Amino acid sequence: MKKITIAIDGYSSCGKSTMAKDLAKKIGYIYVDTGAMYRSVTFYALRNHLFNADGSIKEEELKAQMDKIKISFQLNKATGRPDTYLNGENIETEIRTMEVSSHVSIIAALPFVRTALVEQQQQMGAEKGIVMDGRDIGTVVFPHAELKVFVTASAEVRAQRRYDELKGKGMDANFNEILKNVQERDYIDTHRETSPLRKADDAIELDNSNLTITEQQQWLYDQYCKVAQS
Ligand code: C5P
Repeated sequence: MKKITIAIDGYSSCGKSTMAKDLAKKIGYIYVDTGAMYRSVTFYALRNHLFNADGSIKEEELKAQMDKIKISFQLNKATGRPDTYLNGENIETEIRTMEVSSHVSIIAALPFVRTALVEQQQQMGAEKGIVMDGRDIGTVVFPHAELKVFVTASAEVRAQRRYDELKGKGMDANFNEILKNVQERDYIDTHRETSPLRKADDAIELDNSNLTITEQQQWLYDQYCKVAQS
């Protein structure tokens, strides 16, 4: 099998990360959750009071501090999945809160944030053998990826999954609040000026509203085999 680059894009909470992580583990590839990187910058901005009371961002201050934000991933032996670190601190739980979710799209729309993170993502994938998930992986980060998948599911299905996930972790969750957040993020992600979420022309679309996790895993593995064997 040849070593390839796999780009998985799609709407928020559509199960991309689960699919991507599982495939990477199965085929021995590196997995990178780029949403976690945008969430980490958001967490940093919240912690350092870089949001104004009206929800807007202190852009110049964040820009000046970008090189103080070092994001890395380390395998968590207990879960078998990578945890996200900010300047050496494990922030995997902190970046999944509703507070971060409701501020992240503003951060992700800032061109200087995207430039910095895209550069890091391209370095991570320079040797191929990587599965990366996000919004702009097949269009901007790796436009030449051998396998591109664009995942969709209805907003209600995605909100329900997110609700179950938060509840499962014992975190606070309100279905209507989550649904509203999913819809708002869809809107901002698809309408922003820099790298809006869109399907790459050569991506394969997967609507997983009615698929089980096992069915999605098998589907993705089959796509990988087709490309890596050719
Ligand atoms: O994937 P996840 O929902 O964790 O991503 C959080 C947010 O980060 C998204 O709503 C989107 O605004 C942003 N994002 C992005 N580009 C990526 C990955 C995530 O703009 N490649």
